[in-house]
Parts: sequence; structure tokens; C-alpha cells
Amino acid sequence: MNNRMKTVFSALAENEAFARSAAAAFVMPLDPTVEELTEIKTAVSEAVSNSVIHGYSGWEDRSQAMVELECEINGNGRVTIIVSDHGRGIANVEKAMQPLFSTVESEERSGMGFTVMESFMDKLQVKSEEGKGTAVTMTK
Ligand code: ATP
Ligand code: MG
Repeated sequence: MNNRMKTVFSALAENEAFARSAAAAFVMPLDPTVEELTEIKTAVSEAVSNSVIHGYSGWEDRSQAMVELECEINGNGRVTIIVSDHGRGIANVEKAMQPLFSTVESEERSGMGFTVMESFMDKLQVKSEEGKGTAVTMTK
């Protein structure tokens, strides 16, 4: 039987830990290995931090800037995780997904978020429209 959950939270850095833990708790019935759990948590963190940092960069009221986390477990024990925002969107998704590409020039950003998501999950799909927002769908 399929099992789904959806949660919506403000685009605040502290909610990264909430999202990571929520996704981890939801997949527990699948009895994941410690490694699988770490990979899922890291991928969720990267996607959520992108929404918080890039999606809503310069946003006035962050309490109203929402990020959504959706998880679905299907009958084959596979999990699909969708992290989405209604922020700025990405002008060129293909370019944004390249390793080491970042629009932020700071030592904190290495441009490796999408690469990490891609390597830790089995499938990664990014849909984005400028001015509308971004949705990252990951399957494992
Ligand atoms: P790192 O993740 O290593 O700290 P980064 O966030 O810049 O650095 P990626 O996560 O790979 O690297 O993202 C690449 C680029 O894609 C970002 O620099 C940003 O321009 C854009 N981007 C990613 N997610 C979003 C989003 N949700 N909304 C708008 N732009 C995004
Ligand atoms: Mg990132």
C-alpha cells in the first residue's frame, strides 16, 4: 500500500533540521540502513537549503515564504521525495545542476548541492520556472 505525507514550513534555516528528521522518520518503516538514512537526510537538507538560500533570497517576510516537503512510499518499498518552493526559480536548470556551479560567490557555497542529491538518490528531476518556483523530485 502507498503511504504519503506532506508538510509545509517557513523558509528558515532552522527548518532544514525539521525537514531532514521528518523525512527520516517517515521512511523508518522501510527499515533503511544507516547509510541509506544518511543519504536521504543529506539529499533533503541540500534541497531544502537551496529553497531557503536561493529560492527565497532577499525575501521580506520569511514566515510567509513556504517550502513544501512531500514523501511517498510505494508498494515496492521505494520512496519519492519532493521539495518545492514558490520562490525565484532557476533561469537555466541544466547549468545549475552542473558540479561546482553556483550563483553565490561565497566560501560557504561550493555548487555541489545538486551533485550530492544526484549521487545519494537514484533519480533526480528538477522543474523550475523563473519567478514561480522550483520543485526537486528525488527517488530512492
Ligand atoms: P552548495 O549547495 O554546494 O552550498 P549551491 O547551493 O550554490 O552550493 P547547488 O545546490 O548545486 O549549489 O545549486 C546550484 C545553483 O542552482 C544555485 O547556486 C542557485 O543559483 C540555483 N538553485 C538551486 N536551487 C534553487 C532554488 N530552489 N531556487 C532558486 N535557485 C536555486
Ligand atoms: Mg545548494
